Amino acid sequence: MEKIKMSTPLVEMDGDEMTRILWQMIKEELLAPYLELKTEYYDLGIAHRDETDDQVTIDAANATKKYKVAVKCATITPNQARVEEYHLKKMYKSPNGTIRAMLDGTVFRKPIVVKGIEPCVKNWKKPITLARHAYGDIYKNTEMYLDKPGKVELVYTGEDGSEKRALVQEFKSPGVAMGMHNMEASIESFARSCFSYGLDTHQDVWFGAKDTISKTYDARFCEVFREIYEKEFKEKFAQAGITYFYSLIDDIVARVMKAEGGFIWACKNYDGDVMSDMVSSAFGSLAMMSSVLVSPHGYYEYEAAHGTVQRHYYRHLKGEETSTNSVATIFAWSGALQKRGELDQNGALVSFGEKLEKATVAVIEGGKMTKDLALITSLSEPVVLNSREFILEVKKELEAML
Ligand code: NAP
Ligand code: MG
Repeated sequence: MEKIKMSTPLVEMDGDEMTRILWQMIKEELLAPYLELKTEYYDLGIAHRDETDDQVTIDAANATKKYKVAVKCATITPNQARVEEYHLKKMYKSPNGTIRAMLDGTVFRKPIVVKGIEPCVKNWKKPITLARHAYGDIYKNTEMYLDKPGKVELVYTGEDGSEKRALVQEFKSPGVAMGMHNMEASIESFARSCFSYGLDTHQDVWFGAKDTISKTYDARFCEVFREIYEKEFKEKFAQAGITYFYSLIDDIVARVMKAEGGFIWACKNYDGDVMSDMVSSAFGSLAMMSSVLVSPHGYYEYEAAHGTVQRHYYRHLKGEETSTNSVATIFAWSGALQKRGELDQNGALVSFGEKLEKATVAVIEGGKMTKDLALITSLSEPVVLNSREFILEVKKELEAML
């Protein structure tokens, strides 16, 4: 078979530990034999980030702005232990945080559904995609512990010298207080990303907030969503036969539990943090969750939702066998290749990406899987494979499809 050609490179961001090992195997066994794989390579492994004072992360984000599609391996976000382990010059910020801040946008997380790994919510028949706003609210808050009576006020000082004041609370005894914010532009881009992704994937968009209680803050989110929907998306949604639905967050949660899935659930930052863990664990496993950052400027960055699987890596270093699930990392590649193919009108590349996903799913549905899935599958007597064996099974399946 002739190798499939690519006209534009993918931005490739390599990463750390066990996922870096899987990354290499996936490229060698599942991609390079079938594609003239064209990538612009950035090594975001912790050693190279340290060598470049993290400039490589910024360069990789800029390359994503240039080429529009990136695929990223999981990376270490250093804490004190990592600084000592890798003798780092400093405790670098999360690469995902740096990249998100540069590309702007929303993170979409979707479970990879296979027969034999059943969601524990029995009526969930289709995946639920979580769209998490990635800026502000309590993640950029300022808070205080107040150890004695006093008054807390919210004070705004305009550049023109104007002032707005609101009483938060008269404290008669100790307490806590917090200030947080969001930006109109960020809320707008969140709304646009959700609606665009709904159109892209042909799914309804649900959004929940608490505007009955938060009559200005959450209410502004609702208004921005409604305005952007009415102005820019209503007609396109009607043509596509999909809908936008807003309700209170508690009502949305209740409806999600009773729904059959197949929609996008837009969540404010904190709600998205909490709900994405609920949704992913209810669907089976973090290792079966794909993740894509969609920027309002038309940039896409694909990754796995899980981390570098550190504990497996230490076993690998000791020469022990590992059974690490590569599905989410394979889907990061297949997603990026399909998007690249779509933008370049390269049908062969799109079709390759689809087949790679089908082959991966077929291996698991055929009863062969890594240990994490074998523990939760409803299939009887699953065959447990090690990290490389699983990828080789996918290769066999893929070859039969090509
Ligand atoms: P993790 O890598 O997601 O792994 C946590 C545990 O979940 C593993 O020990 C393993 O359980 C299980 N697991 C996760 N992915 C798996 C897979 N593909 N196959 C099989 N089992 C899997 O999280 P972590 O250990 O808390 O974090 C490790 C590093 O990853 C940290 O340095 C963190 O900063 C980084 N991280 C990066 C990203 C990212 O780049 N997007 C996201 C999260 C964390 P068992 O050990 O029980 O088998
Ligand atoms: Mg979390």
